[in-house]
Amino acid sequence: MTPLIIALDVDSANKALALADQLDPNLCRVKVGKELFTRCGPEILTALHARGFEVFLDLKFHDIPNTCAQAVLAAADQGVWMVNVHASGGPRMMSAAAAVLAQHRLPTHLIAVTVLTSMNAAELSELNVSVSLETQVLHLARLAQQSGLQGVVCSARESQLLTQHLGTDFLKVTPGIRPPQAALGDQQRVMTPALALEAGSTHLVIGRPVTQASDPAAALAEIIRLLPQKSV
Ligand code: C5P
Repeated sequence: MTPLIIALDVDSANKALALADQLDPNLCRVKVGKELFTRCGPEILTALHARGFEVFLDLKFHDIPNTCAQAVLAAADQGVWMVNVHASGGPRMMSAAAAVLAQHRLPTHLIAVTVLTSMNAAELSELNVSVSLETQVLHLARLAQQSGLQGVVCSARESQLLTQHLGTDFLKVTPGIRPPQAALGDQQRVMTPALALEAGSTHLVIGRPVTQASDPAAALAEIIRLLPQKSV
């Protein structure tokens, strides 16, 4: 199955579905984030599922263990393929979320955000985290793995380190992906799809290079054309 996840970062169901209708569910999954979900509610998940898409619900839950676990259960009950929490909620919160999925035998993948890729070392130290960014990412990813989660959201620059320490089966879902020659937008540290896969990323989150292309299907096809054959 494809490693590509297209981020439907738009503000209405109409726009999201117009975009989805130009994409092929055999060639990509889609990601629904906080903006779209907060505006449209769960109906957007139903509509995307009806079109055959597997959905990554990117709501980054972070709460007391019971509340977080019930939110993850609510997402999984709606049939999403993947959902996520913040690893900084701690092992008890993550384990509770993993346990509720196991208890209900739900196949939804549960992954954790380690350190937001928008954060730099100075911002991390403002939070009183005195270790390096990479050390903190690896620490939180290890806690996620020990808590029974299947992977993390991380920068492709961290994929190699995480693969080395946590194995190839541990999912590395990476945004900040730009095809060669694509506009960066507000992303600063980017990698091409092929290099990110080579670094150990298992899934690639791609937004604007596809969603803002004049022909999203053609943009997606071009990205797929440049991927190593074994990954598609
Ligand atoms: O348009 P672009 O390809 O930059 O979109 C990347 C997507 O990945 C967006 O939905 C963005 O919110 C998300 N994301 C990110 N960096 C993170 C986590 C999520 O860019 N650390």
